[in-house]
Amino acid sequence: MTELLLNHLGGRWQAGTGAGTALVDPVLGHELVRVDATGLDLPAGFAHAREVGGAALRALTYGQRSAMLAAAAKVLQARRDAYYDIATANSGTVKGDSAVDIDGGIYTLGTYAKLGEGLGERRYLADGEAARLGKDALFQSQHVLVPTRGLALFINAFNFPSWGLWEKAAPALLSGVPVIVKPATATAWLTQQMVRDVVDAGVLPPGALSVICGSSAGLLDQLQPFDVVSFTGSADTAALIRSHAAVVQRSVRVNIEADSINSALLLPGDAPGSEAFELLAKEVAREMTVKSGQKCTAIRRVFVPEALYEAAAEAIGARLVRTTVGNPRNESVRMGALVSRAQLAAVREGVAALQAHTDTLHDGARHALIDADPAVACCIGPTLLGARNADTAALVHDTEVFGPVATLLPYRDTAHALALVRRGQGSLVASLYGSDAHALAAAALDLADNHGRVHVISPDVATAHTGHGNVMPQSLHGGPGRAGGGEELGGMRALGFYHRRCAVQASTAVLGALAPTA
Ligand code: NAP
Repeated sequence: MTELLLNHLGGRWQAGTGAGTALVDPVLGHELVRVDATGLDLPAGFAHAREVGGAALRALTYGQRSAMLAAAAKVLQARRDAYYDIATANSGTVKGDSAVDIDGGIYTLGTYAKLGEGLGERRYLADGEAARLGKDALFQSQHVLVPTRGLALFINAFNFPSWGLWEKAAPALLSGVPVIVKPATATAWLTQQMVRDVVDAGVLPPGALSVICGSSAGLLDQLQPFDVVSFTGSADTAALIRSHAAVVQRSVRVNIEADSINSALLLPGDAPGSEAFELLAKEVAREMTVKSGQKCTAIRRVFVPEALYEAAAEAIGARLVRTTVGNPRNESVRMGALVSRAQLAAVREGVAALQAHTDTLHDGARHALIDADPAVACCIGPTLLGARNADTAALVHDTEVFGPVATLLPYRDTAHALALVRRGQGSLVASLYGSDAHALAAAALDLADNHGRVHVISPDVATAHTGHGNVMPQSLHGGPGRAGGGEELGGMRALGFYHRRCAVQASTAVLGALAPTA
C-alpha cells in the first residue's frame, strides 16, 4: 500500500477513514500515493478555519500579513527540488512545464507579499473619496472595504496544483481571509505537500490554511453567508456549484474559472516570413505544447488572413514536428504527458470529433513516444487542425479539447476575424499579432468586452512579452461568458473578492476618525 496523504483541517493533520483513491504516475503507470477525505468532521473544521484562522488573520495588519506571505514563499523556495520531483511523477511534466506551475505559484505569492507591503499598518481599505450626500458638506458617505468574516474555499483543477493554490491563496491571506483548498484528486499531491511545508513551518496562524484531499462531497454544504468559493474546472461542475443552496440561498460569493476557446489572431498586413508572422507561428506552437496543452489559457483557434492559410499551416507544422514527446525524465523530451488515461481518452475523442469537420494539418498521432510505453503512458503528440470555411466549422468555436490541439482558420478581413473570435462566447485571453500599432490597439479594444486579457505581440516586444498563456499576477485572469465570468489577480484588484464594501454615512468628524490604521 502506498502512503495515504493526510488532510489538514481543524488545525491538525488527519487521515481519512476510507481506503483512499490512488494517484498515478501518468508516464510509468504506477501508484504513487493515496488521498482520502472520508470521515472528516467538516462542520468543526470549517468553523475552526472561520473562527480561529479568520480571527488571527484579521488581528494582523496588511503589512504583517504581507510579511507572512513572504515567509511562506521562502519556505516553498527552499523545497523547490522536492516539488519538481512530485510534478515529474504525478503530472508527467518536463522541467520547463513544472516551472510554470511551481515557480509561477511562488512568484505570484512573492508578488502579493510585495504589493501588501505598501498597505503597511492599515486594517481596512478606503474605497474612493468621501462623497457629499446633500448641500451641507457635514454629512458624507465614505465607502470602506473590510475583510469578509468567513473563509475562502478553493476547488481547483488538476493542471495547476501549485499555481492554482497560490494565485488564489495569496490575495485571500493578504486580505485576512482563511483558506481551505480542495485540489483536484489526480494531482493533489503537490498541493498537499506545499500546504504541509508551509503549515509545518509555522509561518501562518493556526487555521489560516487547510487542505482537504479526496472527494468534494459535502464541502459546499458547509458554506455560510460570509464565506466565498472560488472554483476552477469544467463548465459542468461550475453549473453544479452555481446552483448549490450555498450560492442560491445563502448568497455565498462565487468566482468561476471554466473552459475557454482562446484565440490567436494575425492581423492583415504582415507577409509570411515577416516578424509578426513568425511570432504568431512560434507562440501558437509554444502554447499548444506547454503543459501538453492542458492550460485553460492555451490557444485553441488560430486566425490568419485567407491568403496566408497554407503558409501559416507550414510554419506552425514545422515547429510542431520538432516537438519530442514522451517521458519527462529523458533530457531530449520537450513535451511530457497528459495527466491521466481518462484525459488521454478525452483528448483523443475530442480530436476525432473535430477531425470530422476539419483537415489534419499536423497529426499528433505520428509522433513516436520517447522512453514511454504507448500502452501505459498518457502521452500524445501535438495536432494542428484546419478548416477552410471558418464560418461553418461550428464545433471548432465551441469545443475545448484540453490537450495539445489547435485549429487554423482563415478570415476575409478584420471585421470577419473579430466576429469569428467572438464565437468563443467569452474567453480568458486572445493574442493579436501585427506591426501596425493603431490596428492592434483598435482590435484590442474591440475584443476587450469579450476577454479577460488581450495580449498584443508586435515585433518591438518580441523578447519582452510575457507569453499568450502565462498568467501574470499584475494582470487580470478570468473571462466573461463561457469562460466562467470570473476575475482573479490583476494586482490589488484581487483583494476585492475577499472584502466586503460598505458605505459609512456620517459626519465629517466621524469619517475623519475612521483611521485606516485604527
Ligand atoms: P472538473 O472535473 O470540473 O474538476 C475540477 C474540480 O472540481 C476538482 O477539484 C474536482 O474534484 C471538483 N469537483 C468535481 N465534481 C464536483 C462536485 N460535484 N462538486 C464540487 N466539486 C467537484 O474539471 P477538470 O476536468 O478536472 O478540469 C479541466 C477543466 O478545467 C478544463 O475544462 C479547463 O478549461 C478548466 N480549467 C480552467 C481554468 C481557468 O483558470 N479558467 C484553469 C484550469 C482548468 P475531483 O478531482 O476530486 O473530481
